Amino acid sequence: DLSNAIVAQDEMGRPFIIVKDQGNKKRQHGLEAKKSHILAARSVASIIKSSLGPRGLDKILISPDGDITITNDGATILSQMELDNEIAKLLVQLSKSQDDEIGDGTTGVVVLASALLDQALELIEKGIHPIKVANGFDEASKLAIETLEMTATDVATDKQQFQEHLFKAARTSLGSKIVSKDHDRFANMAVDAVTAVMDSNRKDVDFDLIKLQGRVGGSIDDSSLINGVVLDKDFSHPQMPTEVLPKDGQKDVKLAILTCPFEPPKPKTKHKLDISSVEEYQKLQTYEQDKFKEMINYVKEAGADVVICQWGFDDEANHLLLQNDLPAVRWVGGQELEQIAIATNGRIVPRFQDLSTDKLGSCSRIYEMEFGTTKDRMLVIEQKEEAIKSKTVTCLIRGSNKMIVDEAQRALHDSLCVVRNLVRDSRVVYGGGAAEVCMSRAVSDEADKQRGIDQYAFRGFAQALDTIPMTLAENSGMDPIKTLSSIKSRQIKENVSYFGIDCLGNDSSNMKELFVVDPFIGKKQQILLATQLCRMILKIDNVIISGKDEY
Ligand code: ADP
Repeated sequence: DLSNAIVAQDEMGRPFIIVKDQGNKKRQHGLEAKKSHILAARSVASIIKSSLGPRGLDKILISPDGDITITNDGATILSQMELDNEIAKLLVQLSKSQDDEIGDGTTGVVVLASALLDQALELIEKGIHPIKVANGFDEASKLAIETLEMTATDVATDKQQFQEHLFKAARTSLGSKIVSKDHDRFANMAVDAVTAVMDSNRKDVDFDLIKLQGRVGGSIDDSSLINGVVLDKDFSHPQMPTEVLPKDGQKDVKLAILTCPFEPPKPKTKHKLDISSVEEYQKLQTYEQDKFKEMINYVKEAGADVVICQWGFDDEANHLLLQNDLPAVRWVGGQELEQIAIATNGRIVPRFQDLSTDKLGSCSRIYEMEFGTTKDRMLVIEQKEEAIKSKTVTCLIRGSNKMIVDEAQRALHDSLCVVRNLVRDSRVVYGGGAAEVCMSRAVSDEADKQRGIDQYAFRGFAQALDTIPMTLAENSGMDPIKTLSSIKSRQIKENVSYFGIDCLGNDSSNMKELFVVDPFIGKKQQILLATQLCRMILKIDNVIISGKDEY
């Protein structure tokens, strides 16, 4: 019913409808609306700003049902916040897209986007049209990325050094995390895991081949990288060996990977099974035993040393397996079964009759790993063979409680991403805000050359870039403005791009020397995404939520 609605036009000449009925509801429009969007974005950013950088603080998140997460990861913090503001939700999505594509830099991208919005607000208040601001930011971001590209250094020119660079970059990404005490160990794990599974021809890393497995108990420095698959299981019988090595004359351990149950098929009859005499009972028992033997024969004939089974089996089957010198693992989940198949280059076999030698998986050793004094055990299917084409590795993460294990897992994931990004594109830029200062210098130089309105947008963009080094300085207890200007002047004086914030008190702001680097593609993505988001918000001037009031 549009009888009480009138059509009006906004300042750009776009039509919109005012429904008179709702006249008493508060309606923000134009500049007012933009201001409130930007303020909402700012409040989100202010929450996660303090976790940026190696001296950033952790946050405790408590979910409605009382679960506790301790983290420093921007994407994680944001994803758990219950926001009812639509613009704030956009920021959450922003950090998620950075996380999906790059996996690191999720805090930085939100800090940058909100700084851009702050600058935009100032410009709008000066009377510059939001679209002009957005376009100016776009241009400025192009220049920033060009500058970034020019200062990026390729670290893959020397194969030997590349490995070391990967390690250092991984360590930078861990600097701010809970594992920082152990960052050498974790950085090594990240580099070793990626190098083990990477496809150097395609320059890519399939993350499906790297499994992160957390296990509460022990301490963080018990974490380790394992070549192969780790199962939260043990062998089905306590008398089975705790280690299986290749049999004499063979070079690997053969595994049968089964999805068929180790039990005799149920008699296929509609009628009840009546056992009325001892003979009948014995007949049934013999039948069952024969069936078991048949199954074990299939396994033996194929040449398997170990049986991995998706289903359980009863004591009798278990005993037979033990007698036949066939260590077995039962109740292995479908996903794990697939992993084992990939890692050992074997096939998942659905029926005993289908078993054959070429379908068996192979590995160099299977052993039960014990943890210190606890009775906890895990089964490791180890793959040392270099020639295996699809290797699988497991990062086993230990820690004294679930919160620590979870956060360590997130941290390791971040550094795995950093290493993977460098394998994809081996260019790095200097961290600690050095790259941002360098871009900011270029953008503000350009502003000085311009005469039109764009110069304001360029200046705003340059100042937004400065927020990153300033936040890093602030989070490390330094005076943000003083530190920033000293770094800027050093960069200008020596005409280099590697001076940044010395967050860890190394008495040097030379990020090249300290080797604090971030992957080029991650930084570029931050600039692209933050600018895009800012542009999008600047173009919104009404939020209409279907079924609810307007904002
Ligand atoms: P994000 O979630 O955005 O990755 P982090 O909290 O991991 O945020 O912080 C990353 C920022 O900290 C980057 O700008 C990086 O260059 C900087 N940084 C990391 N380690 C150091 C260090 N040792 N010295 C100075 N800056 C560092």
